[in-house]
Amino acid sequence: MKKSDEPLFNAKKINNRVVSLSCKIEKDFYLEDLVVVCVLKGAFIFAADLIRYIGFCECILDFVKISSYGSGTESSGNIILTKDLEIGIRDKNVLIVDDILDTGASLSYLVNLLGSRDPKTLRTCVLLDKPERRKHKIQADYVGFEIENQFVIGYGLDYNEKYRELPGIYTLKEF
Ligand code: 5GP
Ligand code: MG
Repeated sequence: MKKSDEPLFNAKKINNRVVSLSCKIEKDFYLEDLVVVCVLKGAFIFAADLIRYIGFCECILDFVKISSYGSGTESSGNIILTKDLEIGIRDKNVLIVDDILDTGASLSYLVNLLGSRDPKTLRTCVLLDKPERRKHKIQADYVGFEIENQFVIGYGLDYNEKYRELPGIYTLKEF
């Protein structure tokens, strides 16, 4: 597999979009508490950038990690939670922040799991959405970019743990 030479989204384009997502979130939760749940590992850079532009909210950050046992570019759809939240979310505004909404298995799993803990509100935010690939009936409340059915890396996203450090988002091609 080989990374594309040109980014699909460069750092500036990502940053502009992240700032506008943050502004929307800030408006929706103006002067309220907000628990941001970052889904490890892929969303760590996105969540870090996003929360830095959310003002006017009392922001608390926590992490979950899920695994869909499988590597490469296909996920199996069998989700297991490998790291749970450390804080309680009962009666809190909760925003799940994930990297990509693909088949929807991961986000559906997390919405069910965290929804069962009686949060005050539960919303979802993803940097990238591949609507074509959806197998579960779920949409995110905040979406950075819609993309076609292609495998992407960079800005936190990996291929076998590589490429997360790239500032832009690139596609991965069969070599
Ligand atoms: P879903 O459960 O919606 O099928 O898949 C979501 C997860 O699969 C994402 O959070 C991400 O970890 C992984 N994933 C899906 N598409 C891509 C992709 O194009 N690139 C990378 N690096 N991960 C992806
Ligand atoms: Mg993920």
